[in-house]
Amino acid sequence: MMDVSSKVRIEDILDRVEQYLPDADGELLRHAYVFAANRHRGQVRRSGEAYLIHPLSVAWVLAEMELDEVAIAVGLLHDILEDTPTTQEEMELEFGPVVTRLVVALTKISSFESNFSSREATEAENFRRLLLASTDDVRVILVKLADRLHNMRTLKYLKRDRQVAIARETLDIYAPIANRLGIGSIKWELEDLCFQYLYPREAERLSRAMQERTKSAGRWFGELQTVIEEILKANRIDGEVYGRVKHLYSVWQKQRRQEVGIESIFDFLAFRVIVGSVSECYAALGLIHQKWPPVPGRIKDYIAIPKPNAYQSLHTTVIGPEGHPFEIQIRTRQMHEIAEHGIAAHWNYKEHGSTPVGDSRIAWLRSLLDTTKGSSPREFLDSLKVDLYPDEVYCFTPKGDVLSFPRGATILDFAYRVHTQIGHHCVGGTVNGKWVPLRTKLTNGDIVEISTSPQQTPNHDWLTIAAAARSRSKIRAWLRKEEKIRAIEVGKKLLEREFQRAGSSWKRWSGSDGIAELLKNHGLMKEDDLFAAVGFGKLAPQVVSAFVLGQDKPEGRGLSLVGAGKAVPAEAAPVLEVTGDSDFLVYLAKCCNPVPGEEIIGFVTRGKGVAVHAKSCPNVRNLLYHPEREIEVRWAQGTFEGKAPRARVALDMKYQDRPGLLMAASHAVSSEGSNIVSCNLQTEEGGLGAVTMTVEVRDKDHLSRILDKLQNVEGMLQVERRGLARRGEP
Ligand code: MN
Repeated sequence: MMDVSSKVRIEDILDRVEQYLPDADGELLRHAYVFAANRHRGQVRRSGEAYLIHPLSVAWVLAEMELDEVAIAVGLLHDILEDTPTTQEEMELEFGPVVTRLVVALTKISSFESNFSSREATEAENFRRLLLASTDDVRVILVKLADRLHNMRTLKYLKRDRQVAIARETLDIYAPIANRLGIGSIKWELEDLCFQYLYPREAERLSRAMQERTKSAGRWFGELQTVIEEILKANRIDGEVYGRVKHLYSVWQKQRRQEVGIESIFDFLAFRVIVGSVSECYAALGLIHQKWPPVPGRIKDYIAIPKPNAYQSLHTTVIGPEGHPFEIQIRTRQMHEIAEHGIAAHWNYKEHGSTPVGDSRIAWLRSLLDTTKGSSPREFLDSLKVDLYPDEVYCFTPKGDVLSFPRGATILDFAYRVHTQIGHHCVGGTVNGKWVPLRTKLTNGDIVEISTSPQQTPNHDWLTIAAAARSRSKIRAWLRKEEKIRAIEVGKKLLEREFQRAGSSWKRWSGSDGIAELLKNHGLMKEDDLFAAVGFGKLAPQVVSAFVLGQDKPEGRGLSLVGAGKAVPAEAAPVLEVTGDSDFLVYLAKCCNPVPGEEIIGFVTRGKGVAVHAKSCPNVRNLLYHPEREIEVRWAQGTFEGKAPRARVALDMKYQDRPGLLMAASHAVSSEGSNIVSCNLQTEEGGLGAVTMTVEVRDKDHLSRILDKLQNVEGMLQVERRGLARRGEP
């Protein structure tokens, strides 16, 4: 791999391509290079280098993956439409339709062109477009990954908050996508880079520990390698043995999972044996097990059952000298190639077209996009994250078919995989012959049989039981349908009651011209839709009766929503706006009391308007089960110009009592220009104490500075904002 700091030249790329693709169209690459150099002329990256370094580096990554010249040309041109005045028509003329189509797919739509007003939603939508284009031509996602890889390699030039945001997104989405497409080399590098930016101290500590131990135990490890080599040689197996340092991030994850430190070098050094054929893989495994006993339950045969990303290998952990367990992976050269380059391995675009037909990795992408069709951008991202979860479990049907599931999947997921109706009516099942309930987690090798009952139907809890995106989207669809039926019932009752109160009856007006006109005014098709609108709290029954019976509109807060003009309580007025519709009554939810600048989300409540919660509020999790009630809200501009009143936030703190602690805490607050509104403290036995403090804050940044200061007060053990998850937890 070329050093990050060294400058890639177009000649390097041409030479590299020449090696693996002798009849590649070098002209296309030169043309793309000259064009990109012209268009990006004068542009500078944050690093101070010429912008052109970036597309060149991206192209180099693609050449290392041994992709065709079209992909590499697209790498050189990928930022042209987004960052220079070049038009699509110009590109078509210069490079033809294929290259242009790919570059267009890599160009983000800006929030101006987007149907979504929040940045997050626009980003999610951009990502969905990108994946959709990738199912037509897999080179789209490969260029995007190379782009992200170079951006991560040069992340140090950005400001800290951008570093964290980009690293987070990369770790949540791009690294798992690389994994899902089987591109191990990119996945590992992305993860290790993200780790260093997201957890700098842990990364530093771990990498130092690993370096020290590698140094001190290197010789011993070299001897083991020789032993394995001799075993192969003595049995006439032609193969190579590599000792390798495991990737930082994977070591860290393992440590966290098992809650152990690095005990020995075997926690981060491992061996890889590369041989010529599948039968040699098994032979080598057997020979190694004769030398050192395997740890039961740690032998994994990904050759017989490949991972869904097509990864194949044998894994085993054996008890080595002095009882230290260590890991060995055994695979053929071809399997190794696939493990490193995944879907990009030996792909001949000229012969096979732009996407591998029938490839399970692309099939996965397609099915994900299908199951999330019509979902909101947030739902899409959530489903994606769940599906990208790296580990899978394999289970069997009673007939012996293998099904794979994301780790954490349950009996319910299994039922939905068999058939949607089986899922909807599932009451539990048997695992290896033993009865188990719905939420039982699947483990590798389980033989599962599902039981159903016609009386059983899905409920909201099921969304917490099911782990796979597919089952969740099926449950959601069912609930949505069911919820509409219920809203119709509720709405109808509310209207009947309202008309009765007004001295009339709904029956008399049903089907009348007045109702027809009201439906038309609100863009509703039939009376059921009207009932649903009332039931969901989008339309107040009083508005309906006033319109139909010709009375004045009723007064009162919280009664008039849609179509009743502005009805916003004074205290909230300048603070919040509902996107695209200013007629909603908006208020801050009491449970979390969000602070200006914080990420927020609105929900239409029955008859009370729009409740605005902090996204991190625990109640939001439940409210998300009603996606049809979700509505986009944002902080009004005036909020940040000092026009809005300060928000009051309750903080719960735990501390080790010491003289002057409270004074230090109050100083921390006042040094940020904030006031303490109230303070309540309690010292318990052993000098441990708890204090609840209400402070005034301007916005989210102000709050986080105050929290930081308090956290740093000597003796302070924990500072939490009341009602929300603890700071620092995802
Ligand atoms: Mn780029």
